Amino acid sequence: MAEANAAYYSARDPLGAAGDFITAPEISQMFGELVGAWAADLWQRAGRPPAHYVELGPGRGTLAADALRAMRAAGLRPAVHLVETSPVLREAQAQRLPDARWHDDVGGLPAGVPLLIIANEFFDALPVRQLVATEGGWRERLVVHEEGRFRPVAGPPAVGIPEHLRAAAPGTVLETSPASAAIVRQLAHLLSASGGAALIIDYGHVRTSAGDTLQAVAAHDYADPWIEPGERDLTAHVDFEALGEAAAAEGVRVLGPVTQGEWLRALGIEQRAAALAGNAPDRAQEIASARDRLIAADQMGTLFKVMALAAPGWPDPAGFA
Ligand code: SAH
Repeated sequence: MAEANAAYYSARDPLGAAGDFITAPEISQMFGELVGAWAADLWQRAGRPPAHYVELGPGRGTLAADALRAMRAAGLRPAVHLVETSPVLREAQAQRLPDARWHDDVGGLPAGVPLLIIANEFFDALPVRQLVATEGGWRERLVVHEEGRFRPVAGPPAVGIPEHLRAAAPGTVLETSPASAAIVRQLAHLLSASGGAALIIDYGHVRTSAGDTLQAVAAHDYADPWIEPGERDLTAHVDFEALGEAAAAEGVRVLGPVTQGEWLRALGIEQRAAALAGNAPDRAQEIASARDRLIAADQMGTLFKVMALAAPGWPDPAGFA
């Protein structure tokens, strides 16, 4: 999954109507603006310390550009760090964020300065392991790559299956993402040492639960994740409970997850949409439909979750009351 996605992202910009999928910041400027307002509010209540902006997997740089505009309006002008592996997307980001610094992974992020960290639809792209219940106990599912497809093969016995799943019916799948947990641990370690907060937004579940969520999208439709490795975007649902536990072990406070709909409403998306429509009455319909796409329960409002990590001594980030 890691190799397939590295190949996939390094070769194309997958976002937008002509690509494979669309994300919240590409739907409306309101998304990035509310993220920026969230960061600026927290920074003000923390006493306006020098702080750096960090984004993981920034796509086209749209979220960062919208967020930084909202931050500047509140007096916050942070240095910008982008964690991005795709050369194609780095180029797109550089058009909008010429002063940014790029990093291959979170290991290169600065220490000793508070960080305001954002990750939207980043963790779903990181590799998962699939553990499968069989008649002979839980085993890891491995794959071989042959003839343009992945073929599953039984791997070694799996360890660390949660108590409530040990006796699960054969065929039950449990996904874990050691790569995601490792990154969250590193971020939480930085926050604990130097201050700041992180905002993680993604589709996924609140509690660790069984289920095969590996999926591919191509041309805005679900596609078979087992064929054409490297040509399709592979994702899996994010296990927010596992991420929260990894972060808490490094001493940060975990807030949420709440649903994206709840979080955006708490941050004032209704008011922001009304203000934008007031300034551009001819676009009122388009603004209302973008707002609904972001918050409606049958669109992105419920499947997507928002979780925050707050450094010790920092105030509670907004939106998680
Ligand atoms: N956050 C953006 C883009 C989401 S797509 C948005 O909301 O529009 C996933 C992003 O993560 C892309 O920028 C992709 O290149 C990046 N990415 C995927 N795997 C990565 C990895 N292992 N390390 C760094 N970036 C990665």
